Amino acid sequence: MKTLIIVDAQNDFMPGGALEVREGDRIVPVINKIIPKFELVVATQDWHPAEHKSFAINHPDRKEYEVIDLNGVEQKLWPPHCVQGTPGADFHPKLELNSVEAIFRSAMDVEVDSYSGFYDNARHKSTGLAGYLREKGADDLYFCGLAADICVYFTIKDALKEGFKATLIEDATVPLFQEDYEKVRKDILSRGGKIITSDEV
Ligand SMILES: [Zn+2]
Repeated sequence: MKTLIIVDAQNDFMPGGALEVREGDRIVPVINKIIPKFELVVATQDWHPAEHKSFAINHPDRKEYEVIDLNGVEQKLWPPHCVQGTPGADFHPKLELNSVEAIFRSAMDVEVDSYSGFYDNARHKSTGLAGYLREKGADDLYFCGLAADICVYFTIKDALKEGFKATLIEDATVPLFQEDYEKVRKDILSRGGKIITSDEV
């Protein structure tokens, strides 16, 4: 079943947000246009407690974008973003959410960050997304959202590891760090993922 997974299309990752992806909002009309082409649509939502340890502000003497060891996992320290219940954690107001059947929230544990929509970065806890998709009969997964080089990338890697078919819709995603994107693209392809544009959906 052809399934669309919208990754973290939230205000804080959009222009003007706390962890802004440059031109991130250009994905919104593209996603709205392709939604009707899918039998199943699900979304992920970054949903941090304010005390989350991926936030630089929660580490005295540490700066944003510094990399630390967080409980044995390499962690880049971010500006506070997508804090539970705040407007920054809401989905983009123009995103068409009516046909989204389920929303999978992540990063709720203060001690571990979560880039993938399937597992936290320490791979201790699953969101249940893989089981949900299997029960629904969703095997052919298409990915869009933010950011291409981080949460979308990690979600695609886990989808492939879980045995799903995974396709990135390239004009429905934008990277946070443009300089990392070519490497990400190559890695997705080398792992057996596909990359298309929205008119090929
Ligand atoms: Zn986050």
